[in-house]
Amino acid sequence: MSLPTLAELSRRLGKGDVSSVDLTRDYLARIEAQDPALNSVITVIAEQALAEATAADARRAAGESGALLGIPLLHKDIFCTAGIRTSCGSKMLDNFVPPYDATAVARLKAAGAVTLGKTNCDEFAMGSSNENSFYGPACNPWNTERVPGGSSGGSAAAVAAGFAAGATGTDTGGSIRQPAALCGITGLKPTYGRVSRLGMVAFASSLDQGGPLAATAEDCALLLQAMAGFDPADSTSAEHEVDDYSARLEADLEGLKIGLPKEYFGDGLDAGIDTAVRAALAEYQALGAELVEISLPHTHLAVPAYYVIAPAEASTNLSRYDGVRYGYRCEDPQDLYDLYTRTREEAFGAEVKRRILVGTYALSAGYYDAYYRKAQQIRRLIQQDFLAAFDSVDLIMGPTTPHPAWVLGEKVNDPVAMYLEDIYTLSVNLAGLPGMSVPVGFVDELPVGLQLIGPHFSEARLLNAAHRYQQVTDWHTRRPAL
Ligand code: GLN
Repeated sequence: MSLPTLAELSRRLGKGDVSSVDLTRDYLARIEAQDPALNSVITVIAEQALAEATAADARRAAGESGALLGIPLLHKDIFCTAGIRTSCGSKMLDNFVPPYDATAVARLKAAGAVTLGKTNCDEFAMGSSNENSFYGPACNPWNTERVPGGSSGGSAAAVAAGFAAGATGTDTGGSIRQPAALCGITGLKPTYGRVSRLGMVAFASSLDQGGPLAATAEDCALLLQAMAGFDPADSTSAEHEVDDYSARLEADLEGLKIGLPKEYFGDGLDAGIDTAVRAALAEYQALGAELVEISLPHTHLAVPAYYVIAPAEASTNLSRYDGVRYGYRCEDPQDLYDLYTRTREEAFGAEVKRRILVGTYALSAGYYDAYYRKAQQIRRLIQQDFLAAFDSVDLIMGPTTPHPAWVLGEKVNDPVAMYLEDIYTLSVNLAGLPGMSVPVGFVDELPVGLQLIGPHFSEARLLNAAHRYQQVTDWHTRRPAL
């Protein structure tokens, strides 16, 4: 089965072949009929979506155009949406209705995109399988007994299942690329600072970055175009000019130098993934690219460094959930201390508590130098590995994940095994680089992703490389039968 891409829908809207109201109705109907099997969408806002679609159709009728005008989207439930519950997959924020939109959401709305609802995710984006959600796991549409990946698992599953033309996600250590890979769609994690973090509920502030998930690179280019750009209200947002992401999609790949990190093809990589990724790399050679083996020697330190830095930042970010300011509050607190402790005990899930404990420990006096400072030093070495590699290659490619989607429940009691699933994606966040995942085949009927990594602010080049591959292959057109 194949479904129209966002770009195709945009062309049809432009020609007047279809209205935004029609599209919105179709998507809402698909969600209603098919999402009970996936649990990928946790809040549907049908009435508001139809009102937004009607407004988009009126804007088109009045002569306005724009690639996203009238395009129905879903947002990961970690982006604040004015007047719509934003739970972050947590009991803590089950009752939280933000008074404002995240900048990324506001920009997509201003471009005319319609919000269908909010997608399931791991609690506060901590996870690789979407099993840490208060609302229960989302399932992989290719095999509902398997995980969709995480933490943007709901967004990836929903896009793969055809519940929206595209979705937003966030990626702190792989959470856009990894679920995109496991669900057979395209996902882009931009350079740190490219997309505003304002209103994107913080997990690990120096790593978090929002980006698009969609069927194709062409679709991701359209979504990123609206999401990207400087935001004076986010002090970490980059004051760097935004490229025209669609303009360079067709550029020739002749002479492109692709680095293959030998550390990404070693032990622990599933043989079927290795084969699919190598076949994709052969396509790149046929497109004129040159493959060069490179080394990123500190790759083995990415998981330990990330699992100090991310929990450290999470432990401070999550201190705001105290039962006073917003979200859950325990019943009948005896005193202030009881209010804090019981609120947090009752409303945070096990993985979030684990991260708060690890992070608090790593930041405590006496351990700060041994763990946090050391992890920051490793982070710099990892970044230097990439920068050195980009002296001799244009892009880096390899597998997005070591394994295809695993069975629900299989790794829930083994956090380290779960953490190791992000082995190829974490370093990219530690270095602040942009990365993508593109579908390149199947292993046992489960999708495989190729990861593309570029220098800072090279999103246009990444999208170009992904698009050229998608022009000569059809993996991105495959859709699960639901
Ligand atoms: N799986 C990683 C973690 O659990 C990354 C999550 C993310 O990118 N949000 O921290």
